Amino acid sequence: MGLKNLLKTYLLPSVSFVMLITGLTASFANVDLFENQWIRFGWYFIAYLLVGLVVMREAWESVLEKDIFSEYLLMSLATIGAFFIGEYPEGVAVMLFYTIGEIFQEKAVHHAKKSIDALLAIRPDRARVVTADSLESVPPEEVNIGEIIEVKTGERVPLDGLLLNDSATFNTSALTGESIPREIKKEEEVPAGMIVTDHVIRLKTIRSYGQSALSRILELVENAVERKAPAEQFIRKFARIYTPTVIVLALLIVCLPWLYAFLAPTFTYNFNDWFYKGLVFLVISCPCALVISIPLSYFSGIGAASKEGVLFKGSNYLEAITHVNTVVFDKTGTLTQGIFEIQEIVSAGTVDTIELLKTIAAVESKSTHPIAKAIVDYVRIQNISLAIPDRIAETGGLGLTAELNGKKIVVGNAELLDRYEIDYPATIRAIPETTVLCAIENVYAGYLRLADALKTDAHDAITALNKCGIKNFVVLSGDKQALVTHLATKLGITQAYGGLLPEEKVKQIEILKSNPSNILAFVGDGINDAPVLALSDVGIAMGGLGSEVAIEAADVVIQTDRLIKIATAIRLGRFTRRIVIQNICMAIGLKILILSLAVIGIASLWEAVFADVGVTLLAVMNSLRILKAKV
Ligand code: ADP
Ligand code: MG
Repeated sequence: MGLKNLLKTYLLPSVSFVMLITGLTASFANVDLFENQWIRFGWYFIAYLLVGLVVMREAWESVLEKDIFSEYLLMSLATIGAFFIGEYPEGVAVMLFYTIGEIFQEKAVHHAKKSIDALLAIRPDRARVVTADSLESVPPEEVNIGEIIEVKTGERVPLDGLLLNDSATFNTSALTGESIPREIKKEEEVPAGMIVTDHVIRLKTIRSYGQSALSRILELVENAVERKAPAEQFIRKFARIYTPTVIVLALLIVCLPWLYAFLAPTFTYNFNDWFYKGLVFLVISCPCALVISIPLSYFSGIGAASKEGVLFKGSNYLEAITHVNTVVFDKTGTLTQGIFEIQEIVSAGTVDTIELLKTIAAVESKSTHPIAKAIVDYVRIQNISLAIPDRIAETGGLGLTAELNGKKIVVGNAELLDRYEIDYPATIRAIPETTVLCAIENVYAGYLRLADALKTDAHDAITALNKCGIKNFVVLSGDKQALVTHLATKLGITQAYGGLLPEEKVKQIEILKSNPSNILAFVGDGINDAPVLALSDVGIAMGGLGSEVAIEAADVVIQTDRLIKIATAIRLGRFTRRIVIQNICMAIGLKILILSLAVIGIASLWEAVFADVGVTLLAVMNSLRILKAKV
């Protein structure tokens, strides 16, 4: 925190507080100097301005933004009114305690932001610099302007640069908030933060890391603040009706007895008395506890989740996840570890197995898919050197095409070869394991057989979700039906669909969504999962192995890739909602009590102030329980 902020946050309220206390003591001890009305006024007026100016400025700014009836206006009116009738210390106290409530809230928000930041930093940016004979992976800060970098399909562009490929399509939602794909042509600028979705591209950097398009981490957090939960939106709408109503009622309290005095001459109207009553009413009516504690509860929820390794991109998702009753899983990298091992290399005879492996590995070296990682590692351990492919395009859920030594190579699953009308032995489809097929110059050349295992916590995750009351599970995968059915059965899931193209995953989700009683969470990791992550009610991405596109499209990111955290997230969401409801009941209940007391004349301005501060602090502390929650 900068010095200026520190001053504003702590010093001014502290001075104001000391002045209030000395003032009250002086009056109590009948100090002569304080008998002078002007000195007394000046003393409290300074104490008031120290905390009140900020609030009054906020009130004025809201008025300028046409949001006239803000809580700031209510506070300003009530306190200025208190000064007007000579109740200086009350005016200072209301403003001061309100400010203290705000400080509490800001601290909690800051805390939550810090844990979110820490979470995001786990996944550092890397830039792949193209050198004369190899690629070098370095932190983007170390890349000079004018150097050439390579970005794989599904990865985020780390630095601003000019595109060297003919064209490529990008997902721009991190920068623009809209997920409309954008095509960029050769020599045009590609801003950092965009995700390339269909090619492996090369860029010539034009700015250093510090100057490259906005730090997206901050943006993610800021977006999180903007996406309000329904309860927060409700409070806003509520305030818009509530505040003017309260102001009108307060005016009526002051004016009606005055009118009554005309009708009943025995009734003597004392303006100060009724003005005071009107003010008490205004102060009591301040919805501080609600205004402060509800966003704070959601923030604490987001903060608590991030401590668990779960990043919520907005408080609305914290709320939405509590309603989920159907969980749809992707297979590879989500239910399975995504750590493949090569079991067998089968050549069709045109090239030998080593040549086949080298061809597949060369192309896969440009992919970020877990299959690709396994193949490339396998080759690297054996110190086999690879040729560098050209014109690489990747389609999520299918595989890659590229040029290698002038030959057209297709590497991927059977569906991909179908697309190019390349024949292959039909028996491959029946193999109950993941296979990667390869075609050279449109002629089938062989395949690799790979095995992957279920995540160790997959069973526990399903059990935990069951305990949360979720009984409906579905698996959607781009991998073979035989394999998908096999894994799903192990987990006791009956609805399992394999061999799905990315657009078929979308169709399946649409079918599920067409039943309005289904509230869907989709859990995925791949490039082919991005559309369904965006489409489902809550999209959950694997943040560790997952591709950047999936993380971008998701509403919730599980940094550790552990499935058990889905249930944790749901429980945290539910706990947060419970606290929010408690706070709403507590605040409104107490308001009604004090209001009734004020009407019959028992409660004074002081009780009103303390009730308001008290309930605000209680609500704040209640919200902070979420941060410490063990769910
Ligand atoms: P899931 O939908 O189960 O997560 P994937 O995202 O792994 O499946 O994609 C489905 C299938 O697409 C894979 O099983 C694989 O056959 C094929 N595939 C996707 N990317 C690649 C790649 N880089 N290399 C080879 N095959 C790929
Ligand atoms: Mg996957």
